[in-house]
Amino acid sequence: MKSRLKLPLLAARESELEKCVYCPKLCRAVCPVGNVEASETLTPWGKMSLAYFAARGDFDLDRAHADTAWACTGCLACRERCEHKNEVAQVLGAARAEFFAAGLAPAGAVAVAASWQERSHKLAASVAVLCRDTGTVLAPVAQASGAAGGPSPARTALLVGCSYARHALAEARAIVALGRRFGTGANGKAGAPRPLALVPLCCGLPLLQAGARGAFMNAAAALSETLRRFDRVIVADPGCALVMRRVYPEAGVPLPPVELLVDVLAARMGTLPANRLAGRRLRYADPCKLGRGLGRYDEPRAILARLAGAPPAEMPRAREAAECSGAGGLLPATRPEASAAIAAERVAEHRELGGGTLVTACGGSLRRLRGLGTEVADLYALVASALD
Ligand code: SF4
Ligand code: SF4
Repeated sequence: MKSRLKLPLLAARESELEKCVYCPKLCRAVCPVGNVEASETLTPWGKMSLAYFAARGDFDLDRAHADTAWACTGCLACRERCEHKNEVAQVLGAARAEFFAAGLAPAGAVAVAASWQERSHKLAASVAVLCRDTGTVLAPVAQASGAAGGPSPARTALLVGCSYARHALAEARAIVALGRRFGTGANGKAGAPRPLALVPLCCGLPLLQAGARGAFMNAAAALSETLRRFDRVIVADPGCALVMRRVYPEAGVPLPPVELLVDVLAARMGTLPANRLAGRRLRYADPCKLGRGLGRYDEPRAILARLAGAPPAEMPRAREAAECSGAGGLLPATRPEASAAIAAERVAEHRELGGGTLVTACGGSLRRLRGLGTEVADLYALVASALD
């Protein structure tokens, strides 16, 4: 049956939109943005309803209405609560693409897309520094013409993630050290690790979140071409891993097998140092995309339990019910106050429970939660420090 919706990307999501429009808002209490801004319009129901009415042509779309599609961190908490497992974040992503194409994206999203080349150069420079510091090789980048880059001695590539590589270099070094030690196997010569190639490209997630679909597809194609020569790619940041595992296949963009660094470590659990961090008070905060997105709840907890000799402490709501850090969905760029308020809530909860070290496994959350008056650590940096 032909959709009544006039915006094609939203017409393809009509059934998800209608589920929300006619729903008694069963997920309203879990949306971090709706909660922190105390706005009915910003509940998942409100945002989906506005997208639906906009696509139906019920009102002249303006910037203020379009803005609501960016009031989402992509935390997936509403999907978790929903009886239909409705993909609200994905549908709002389609709304972002429609509104971006109509010139109605918020300034923060436009700025991300407009500065893409500059961001890409900075990422490549950071990854080059990482290569120099860690004795790894750089993955040869495919040319814009589609021609493959030069040969590489490595069969395994590592994608560290922009948040780590550009904003948390110490953690990025730790990730590379773990990739070299556990991700490549030995080459038979006295156990020396095989070479590991660092990928100096972004998966394109910020462009997708901005609504710049064409630019995202270009970024995805460039990464796909560059990774073609490798047998596998290990990915540290769960945001990159989720987009490469879910969005790329849907868009028909081929990749070699995408492995999560947390899985690589969990598979080598017996070789991780036991009790080396005993006595440290660690509290694990599930990153949304690693937990609800990729289903990894047990692996990071098992790794921390191995390092510390005891399971990590928990946040008030954990695992499937975990709450967002405010870092996702481009919220820091489009609604910085809301993003900061969500992060402050997480830190306050952590402190009320007795504090200690708040542990994440996501570059964006690490950046978002740091500097708010509590110690924040990254899972991979903790593993690397325990190995030193
Ligand atoms: S996501 Fe599910 S529970 Fe939430 S408003 Fe939509 S249909 Fe209702
Ligand atoms: S994905 Fe998270 S932030 Fe987005 S609408 Fe759902 S609950 Fe709100």
